[in-house]
Amino acid sequence: MGFGGSDLYRQQILDHYKNPRNYGELDDATFSHAGENPMCGDTIEMDVVLDDTETVIEAVAFQGDGCAISQASASMLSEELVGMEIEKLRAMDRDDITEMLGVDISPMRVKCAVLAEKVAQDGVDIHLGEKEATDLTISDE
Ligand code: ZN
Repeated sequence: MGFGGSDLYRQQILDHYKNPRNYGELDDATFSHAGENPMCGDTIEMDVVLDDTETVIEAVAFQGDGCAISQASASMLSEELVGMEIEKLRAMDRDDITEMLGVDISPMRVKCAVLAEKVAQDGVDIHLGEKEATDLTISDE
């Protein structure tokens, strides 16, 4: 599979990959955003519903295609995001994602792992008018 870590975490990743949580679309999304990791061919589209005050995430749905790490990360993140304040989402970094995944991520696969997080954060920035509304492409950082 190209990633290390304990069997438990590997099984969890494969489970999320095969049975993604919150997969689909939301008709009443506050905002939608898409991103890709061209290095690996991963794509993620995310729909997010915010509460009335636009500070808390009420619902998340995603669709995507790509490797197990990218899709499992999106599935696991979608579960974490429901009920999360957007300021907490904006403060997340790759360490939070690798901790969530629970496996060692090689430098090549970090972009796969953080794609969903970046899509969510970028979507928030665009929704708040702090960033130009273009699809996200993960490139060298
Ligand atoms: Zn990938």
